[in-house]
Amino acid sequence: HAQITKPPLTIRLCEPRGFCAGVDRAIQIVVLALKKYGAPVFVRHEIVHNRYVVEGLQQLGAVFVEELDEIPEEHKNAPVVFSAHGVPKAVPEDAVRRNLFYLDATCPLVSKVHKQAMRHHRLGRHVLLIGHAGHPEVIGTMGQLPPGAVTLIETVADIERLQPEDPSALGYVTQTTLSVDDTAGLIRALEEHFPQVQAAAAESICYATTNRQEAVRMAAPGADLFLVVGAPNSSNSKRLVEVAERAGAGRSLLVQRASEIPWDEVGDISTLGLSAGASAPEIIVDEIIEAFRARFEVSLDLAITAQELENFPVMRALRDVELTAA
Ligand code: SF4
Repeated sequence: HAQITKPPLTIRLCEPRGFCAGVDRAIQIVVLALKKYGAPVFVRHEIVHNRYVVEGLQQLGAVFVEELDEIPEEHKNAPVVFSAHGVPKAVPEDAVRRNLFYLDATCPLVSKVHKQAMRHHRLGRHVLLIGHAGHPEVIGTMGQLPPGAVTLIETVADIERLQPEDPSALGYVTQTTLSVDDTAGLIRALEEHFPQVQAAAAESICYATTNRQEAVRMAAPGADLFLVVGAPNSSNSKRLVEVAERAGAGRSLLVQRASEIPWDEVGDISTLGLSAGASAPEIIVDEIIEAFRARFEVSLDLAITAQELENFPVMRALRDVELTAA
């Protein structure tokens, strides 16, 4: 009988992709807290924006809540972990008031942005935060300072509308997971309107965001389709989809699992770009490659732009568990 041959497909796989050091640390904190203190361990907000990760931790005994008042009275002695995105100052204060034991999994690079915002404020500057309204990181960064001390900037129109009390006393910081190109544009507009605006002492967009966008920019040109593994509420993953489109991918899509690949729309492609957001586990990348292997004769082509060596250690309280777990 006739042999069915699969059509050839080159998958350009971006490197770096997937988990960053901040996400890895946050997940470790929950796992180690479960080992040390036993279940339940409460986690305020999705620890990282990935359903697969959240469900895996739930199976180990983590319980996710949006606010601290959802922690039942009988579990008041259980630890509560704050997510990698960071929290407003009011949250740990509230935890102390409620006598809760908390572990803060805020990424050190988000904490660094918090410190930069506080520094601007201490130096008498009104703080401009470039970011996306409603994202937990933005809520957390704004919540480091008193109400009114920070203004969120999402667009050039926001900059044009600004009427600062003292245009010579302005400082900006950004969310860590923004589009590198769009942010550069906004900063240019900011500097045109307010020549005295002060940058943060250190870059706010993190290494993981920058590196993942750069690899996508390299892999996207000429790709018929580009898939980014990530969740719809993951800021850095959504930015990767935009970068792929702008860098010349025919089409670009965010998918959470292989089961979300819209096969009838995929059609007869010959080159696929593939990356994963900072909160997406590698196992899903593998799952997607396997799904394509079932339909195509796949050859892999790596688009490597950087090697990441960052590693953020967990807090002291959990280091003894880590050692015995090894
Ligand atoms: Fe930290 Fe960047 Fe990862 Fe966010 S994306 S957790 S800021 S390393």
